[in-house]
Amino acid sequence: MLVVASANGRVGIREAMRVLREGGSALDAVETGCRLVESNPDDHSVGYSGIPNLLGVVELDASIMDGKTLAAGAVGAVKNFEHPISIARKVMEELPHVFLVGEGAERFAREAGFEEKDLLTPEAEEIRRRLLEGKGLGIYAERLKYLERIREFANLATDPERALGTVNFIARDREGNLAVGVSTSGWACKYPGRLGDSPVIGAGNYADNRYGAAACTGRGEMAIRKCTAYSAVMYMRMGASVEEAGRRAMEDLKDLVDPYAGAMSLICVDAQGNHAAFSNREGSRYVFMTDEMDEPEERPRILVT
Ligand code: ASP
Repeated sequence: MLVVASANGRVGIREAMRVLREGGSALDAVETGCRLVESNPDDHSVGYSGIPNLLGVVELDASIMDGKTLAAGAVGAVKNFEHPISIARKVMEELPHVFLVGEGAERFAREAGFEEKDLLTPEAEEIRRRLLEGKGLGIYAERLKYLERIREFANLATDPERALGTVNFIARDREGNLAVGVSTSGWACKYPGRLGDSPVIGAGNYADNRYGAAACTGRGEMAIRKCTAYSAVMYMRMGASVEEAGRRAMEDLKDLVDPYAGAMSLICVDAQGNHAAFSNREGSRYVFMTDEMDEPEERPRILVT
């Protein structure tokens, strides 16, 4: 049994492994891990206390995929619900749909019994204020100025020192089933309604028991355009090792003409439970835990420049 996560998944990985040890499924494990990160007030890139959008509203995205059935669920631009990963799972399990966004996703969450919560914290609002004032926009940025200066915003949002991110979890349970969960508050100060790769199946998230699973963090627009998570799994399907598959999916990003090119990172697990992680930025790490380990271990990601 195995759980692999982006480094900020450290707060949830032990619980995710406990779920597997107690006989829970890979889906249960990734949902549990993501929920703990979503509730972490010190993580300003996921869930509660996520950095709000341009207008000061926290909008969350999440997706989940079952490698056994290829069922998937996703929500985007969801406001006032702390656990978009669990809403995504409900979409997967209870609706004939894969993806709900905005008001429809919130309506479904209410109907499914999720409680509403104000997600904006003073710390996250202060980060937004500083970021916008750093760009000379004050608290009430206008749409026009945002669009005029989108390049600066893109840099701001993808600067790794801003500690922005997303959480990725991949789990492999005792039956060898794979699942992936991804949750994020997206780019800091993003344009309202903007979705990245995290809720897009195949871009930020993909799992297929027969070949492997993958999940992304970083500039989601790039992963959407190259279907990065799906590509990594496809390369495994074509016979590549987990290291080779992830490296090739990362190298494919070089095809993109992208004036905003930013950080991209990827975690991958193959059908046998071998894992590897990649980034185009130095210093990026990931975390993993097997059922034989007492503590999770953090490792540097393979650098693919
Ligand atoms: N991938 C996320 C997005 O594009 C952000 C991140 O991972 O930093 O929304």
